Amino acid sequence: MRTLWTLDVPFLEGAANPLPLTVIVGAQWGDEGKGKIVDLIAEEADIVARCQGGPNAGHTVVIGKETFVLHLVPTGALRPGKLCVLGSGVVIDPLALFAEVDGLKTHGVEVENRLRVDPRAHIILPYHRALERAEEGRAAGGRLGTTLRGIGPAYASKAARTGVRVHDLLDRERLRTLLELNLETVGAQIGAAAAAAEELGAGAMTDVFTALGSRLKPLVTDVSGLINTALRGGRRVLVEGAQGTLLDLDHGTYPFVTSSSTIAGGALTGLGFGPRQVDQVIGVAKAYTTRVGHGPFPTELEPAAAADLREAGAEYGATTGRPRRCGWLDLVALRRAARLSGFDALAVTKLDVLDTLEAIPVCVAYEPDPRGDWWPEVELEAARPVYRKLRGWRASTAGARSIGDLPPAAREYLRFIAAETGVPVALASVGSGREETVRIDDPSLAAASSAVSN
Ligand code: GDP
Repeated sequence: MRTLWTLDVPFLEGAANPLPLTVIVGAQWGDEGKGKIVDLIAEEADIVARCQGGPNAGHTVVIGKETFVLHLVPTGALRPGKLCVLGSGVVIDPLALFAEVDGLKTHGVEVENRLRVDPRAHIILPYHRALERAEEGRAAGGRLGTTLRGIGPAYASKAARTGVRVHDLLDRERLRTLLELNLETVGAQIGAAAAAAEELGAGAMTDVFTALGSRLKPLVTDVSGLINTALRGGRRVLVEGAQGTLLDLDHGTYPFVTSSSTIAGGALTGLGFGPRQVDQVIGVAKAYTTRVGHGPFPTELEPAAAADLREAGAEYGATTGRPRRCGWLDLVALRRAARLSGFDALAVTKLDVLDTLEAIPVCVAYEPDPRGDWWPEVELEAARPVYRKLRGWRASTAGARSIGDLPPAAREYLRFIAAETGVPVALASVGSGREETVRIDDPSLAAASSAVSN
């Protein structure tokens, strides 16, 4: 039977192949290397769709000597001819979107003619950034440590039903009325003087966003209709999640979360298709853990040890340049991520970053739960991880292209992850390049799931 991906994940073959609809999500706190994995799998997709988040993503893809960082444009842009779609669940800053589209063009990537945007997607407006700055400014060091791109306040407007959507930009009078109403409210929230000092007035904002609306107009498409029609026509759709499971608005480490649904369920609401359409969910996890911004992180390393891992893994934000907090792999969290999204397979990235370590601790449970089923949601700050020390391999994995090329201890590391999560590890990434990938067909990595009850 034909498999969807050239990646040929043999233990998924028995499932539903071909696999027209695949969802890829981050399994940790974001920055797992989703960009690289989406780019790989996008080779065989027809449509690559973003379902949530805004220009706060920083999906890095290295192609030969060029490095691309995609914030809002789907990673499919880097594969010629793929249709790139932003669903209704995404929040769009049209200025940032077109700056990115134009920036890609200067690097020879033409995407505007194959980009589609849902009319229901909400717009990030300048006052959303002012609101976020005001909110974050209330506490020293920032309340949540957000990217200050107005994404949270844009989602708040959506939930408050005062949001401005893509289709509102196509009607000048309607837009002006909405903006006038909203600016009054913003003035009341952060002070009229602060709002006026930072932002355009309603008239100027109407001019700017009407012009952006004209450029958006040819891209506006009913994304739900597009995707469902495409699936019926045998096309293959790849959903590119942004951020990660532990930042999910409902299931993450609230309030230190992002403002959208980052689990696989977010693909359904953010693009408009039913749960039975999904054929495959792939979770992307680093071989260790990082986190940006504030919030609990039980397996976080002490500063000196974290610095070693940060340097080895170049753990600085692609969008913000902020140093990432670093720690060991948390298998309790990963098990939970697998459950929340129903992972069919895992892609484990940055295995090479662990190459020099003699022993690698991984968190298998939290005290006092010896089974490791318990995610200490509300007490996470005080949670005491229980570690198991796995053998390091102390050899370079960078050149590995098949499971047999990996040192035995590295194979054992992956096998342990599969066994502990109950999810086959289908891919291991050993460098940022497209080719630096190990496609895994070792049955023991697939069958390990029988060892756990998830
Ligand atoms: P994303 O937002 O989930 O796509 O992740 P980021 O792009 O923010 O961070 C991943 C970073 O790690 C990028 O700079 C990638 O080029 C890089 N990367 C991805 N996979 C690997 C890998 O296997 N090894 C190494 N050393 N770097 C990787």
